[in-house]
Amino acid sequence: MLARSPGRWQMQPWQRELAAAFTRPAELLAYLGLDPALTAPVAWPLLVPRGFAALMVPGDPADPLLRQVLPSAAEGLATPGYSTDPLAEAAARRAPGLLCKYRGRALLLVTKACAVHCRYCFRRHSHTPATGPAIAGLEAALQALAADPGIHEVILSGGDPLLLDDVALRALIARLAALPHLRRLRLHTRVPVLLPARITPTLVDLLTGTRLAPVMVIHTNHAAELGDAAAAALDRLGRARIPLLNQGVLLRGVNDSSAVLAALAERLFALGVINYYLHLLDPVQGAAHFAVPRSRARALLRALRAELPGYLVPRLVCEVAGAPSKLPIDAA
Ligand SMILES: *Cc1c(COP(=O)(O)O)cnc(C)c1O
Ligand code: SF4
Repeated sequence: MLARSPGRWQMQPWQRELAAAFTRPAELLAYLGLDPALTAPVAWPLLVPRGFAALMVPGDPADPLLRQVLPSAAEGLATPGYSTDPLAEAAARRAPGLLCKYRGRALLLVTKACAVHCRYCFRRHSHTPATGPAIAGLEAALQALAADPGIHEVILSGGDPLLLDDVALRALIARLAALPHLRRLRLHTRVPVLLPARITPTLVDLLTGTRLAPVMVIHTNHAAELGDAAAAALDRLGRARIPLLNQGVLLRGVNDSSAVLAALAERLFALGVINYYLHLLDPVQGAAHFAVPRSRARALLRALRAELPGYLVPRLVCEVAGAPSKLPIDAA
């Protein structure tokens, strides 16, 4: 039996990287040669792996990677129309940790931990500060999945499902593969980009060694996030014929220019990743400073369409509580 929290000597390299991540804003700012006054104390702590920080431009307070992760005073502003549960997820909960919003697909929240704390995250109010994985009571969720033959795809989300260790992930996948109506196993994860060392040959075998067809959706918002280590991790996944998609969020001050979006599209293509979705920001309390108006989002997509082949242009969508799918936002 493996210990739940392995000692440092037993840790995998990715677990050591996570344990060594920046958690103090002052330390990250000092590392980048920036003024400690650029941040502000907020309730949800900073979490940034060192490999990700290494992709930021030292001395640039407007760095698009830094902006995604640095706590700012704007998070404390209460904005009308912004809530702590913007997608009304409570209503879609079929069992603890199981969300069923769309036909045929179910979302399983397997951990509350992430490899990074994204300041715009729509689940920011349900995250725990702990970085360790914690599958809490998934038994009822698994029973609900077993009881619904209409579900063909299970989506592992969280938190970040790839923060589960191999033992936990293998056990979970075995339980899912035993449900005959499930066909696909999808993972939504920032780990290939944030902790590329997590994409080990063992993990790849685990994902391809199941009856279920694997699909991975990475979350990337800017080409600068996709450094050499992330590229190598994506290569390992791609060579194993795991379909790779990207889902980004349109964020003010991060990627709200057609040049930045085009560079991301090109980089994703070069790495074998389909540019699946570009989401409008979910109106979560504390993230209003990232919002891009809908009219501007449409204009950006028009500009992208004029510049790139159609297959490099993501679907611009937003999520509306109660809708039968993510809703496309017409670029016309
Ligand atoms: C986004 C989402 C999905 C997946 O939607 P796709 O359009 O298939 O990518 C499934 N379930 C929930 C609850 C979601 O939020
Ligand atoms: S990795 Fe995903 S779930 Fe975790 S903080 Fe970032 S956006 Fe939220």
